[in-house]
Amino acid sequence: VVHRPLAGTAARLVGGLLRDWQVRNREASLPVAVEHLRTAGNLENLQLAAAGAKTGHQGPAFMDSDIYKTLEAAGWELGQTADERLATFAGEAAALLQRAQLADGYLNSYIQVSGQPRYAHLERSHELYCAGHLIQAGIAHARAIGTTRLLEVAQRFADQLAETFLGASGGPDGHPIVESALVELYRQLGDSRYLHLAQQFIDQRGHGLVGDYYGFGRRYLQDHLPVRGAATVTGHAVRALYLEAGVADVAAEARDAGLLASSITRWDDMVATKTAITGGNGSRHDGESFGDAYELPPDRAYNETCAAIASFQWSWRLLLATGHSKYADLMERLLYNGLAAAVSAGGREFFYVNPLQRRTGHFEGDDPGRRHGWFTCACCPPNLMRLLASLHHYLATTAGDGLYVHLFAGAQMEADAAGGRFAVEMDTSYPWQGEIRLRVTHAPSRPCGLAVRRPGWAGSTAATLNGEPVSLTADEHGYLLIRRCWQPGDTLVLSLPVRPALAFPHRRIDALRGTVALVRGPLVYCFEQADQPPDVNLEDLAVIPGTALCDPQTTIPGIGQTIAIETSAVVLPQEASPGGLPYRDSPCQAAEPGDQASPGVAGDRPAVTTRAIPYFQWDNRDRGAMRVWVPVHDTRPQGSDHSQACPRRGG
Ligand SMILES: [Zn+2]
Repeated sequence: VVHRPLAGTAARLVGGLLRDWQVRNREASLPVAVEHLRTAGNLENLQLAAAGAKTGHQGPAFMDSDIYKTLEAAGWELGQTADERLATFAGEAAALLQRAQLADGYLNSYIQVSGQPRYAHLERSHELYCAGHLIQAGIAHARAIGTTRLLEVAQRFADQLAETFLGASGGPDGHPIVESALVELYRQLGDSRYLHLAQQFIDQRGHGLVGDYYGFGRRYLQDHLPVRGAATVTGHAVRALYLEAGVADVAAEARDAGLLASSITRWDDMVATKTAITGGNGSRHDGESFGDAYELPPDRAYNETCAAIASFQWSWRLLLATGHSKYADLMERLLYNGLAAAVSAGGREFFYVNPLQRRTGHFEGDDPGRRHGWFTCACCPPNLMRLLASLHHYLATTAGDGLYVHLFAGAQMEADAAGGRFAVEMDTSYPWQGEIRLRVTHAPSRPCGLAVRRPGWAGSTAATLNGEPVSLTADEHGYLLIRRCWQPGDTLVLSLPVRPALAFPHRRIDALRGTVALVRGPLVYCFEQADQPPDVNLEDLAVIPGTALCDPQTTIPGIGQTIAIETSAVVLPQEASPGGLPYRDSPCQAAEPGDQASPGVAGDRPAVTTRAIPYFQWDNRDRGAMRVWVPVHDTRPQGSDHSQACPRRGG
């Protein structure tokens, strides 16, 4: 089943958490980006390029891409709400880009100002990467606000790329994204050269053509195997995932079933073996890269914000290509956890690295464990802004004669169906509560389908149509699909079991063995030191399995309204070890002799109430310890003698 996105303005967020995030993005986050583009040198670089200067470029080679991402976000926002400051920035930046663009269409402030030769070091120059973000910005402005000035700049550059690279041996870029951007430009303008160029860049990978990026090797650049022959995602996570978005785009437009199948194989493998519970990817700081299968350490997790965005975009494309709800499930997991945590409650600080544990006194150069206002390598904040500004695009799609709802939020959606306009209002306080009400406000004259995703995390679901229970056998690809002659006022209600639960790690994830996480609906929870009883160190707590999980609604200074999860835990004693080493001859965590192996009883040790909050709300108070995965208290009685006689060798 091939799905189509709704037309640009056919879906709107009108209430709830996602709407709040979008408003915060416009009011608090985007002004931060605009301010830093002015002070960090990004706009100045373009002014130098426009003046023909040959010295003075500031920052990394990809500084232009921060401008393009911010412009893209501004485009999506201006398509929804008038905002004078944003409009002024967008106008000035577009005019500056027009002035900086060379006569043949080339545009890159780093190359133009540094005087280096064009396209000579694509493994590290990010020239096509920047072009890709320019194209996306141009498309956003054309689609959302109907202005083509930026798109024309992008088109001139894309034409220059086609003339330079199509059918020639140069390329591809060390950092993918131009592939998916070129396919989008093909969709926007209909010029098949853009699609063919994207196709060429994908086919060129795996043949040692990309070059060497500072000794990181071919895996880092996804150049170790041809795309169709790779069974797993590898190397730099953001590059790998942007490449996959381009692969899925090319496969869809070129109707290349083999290419699509290879991408799906890697997606399934990544989800099964290389994905954090928050949806994050990249378990190694070294090379910002994927690790081995099941190498998912919570404290060392890299989980770059851009990787979460790229994974979201890849999943969206596979959702469109196949109509399977598992892709929307991962998008939801990312959205409410890995992505949502990347911005502070106030919207003005951002995470680049998103670990699942912060130890007391944590220090690391590339992961300070706290959000920052901006970064020298500022890829993540404006990337997050363009995603949040376009969140409404991902709510629903059409397929056949049906409107499919993928994400749940206060929203209005409409689609053109045979027989007229089909408009639906969604009302919910998801993800806090599990009731989703879909009310038809305008119906076509002929029968059509309304489908709603049944999330993978929800074991049981119930639904009613106009108050009557609906049979859930009409499920297709993970959706409850109802096809009928709809009337205005018809109301479909989906009830999802949003309540606290434990999550256990796969046995092969060694770094998580013996631990448990708390979840509630799509939200992953974490424990912060600030929420524990006085004098109780978070790092000494072990959750007692089987005890009640309470979920009080509460307000926390610095965070605001939330739903916490409370459960019982024991405070583990200080361990004395021979020689001072953190090792001993009996298990550290065992209960005392005489303990009962029954839930809620922890031997002589007093049980305390421990409290967790949604992961996306962490690091809004102090720099105390945080952890998602917490040890499980082992209530099995401990024997005193661990020695056993060895079986005799031989016969
Ligand atoms: Zn980033």
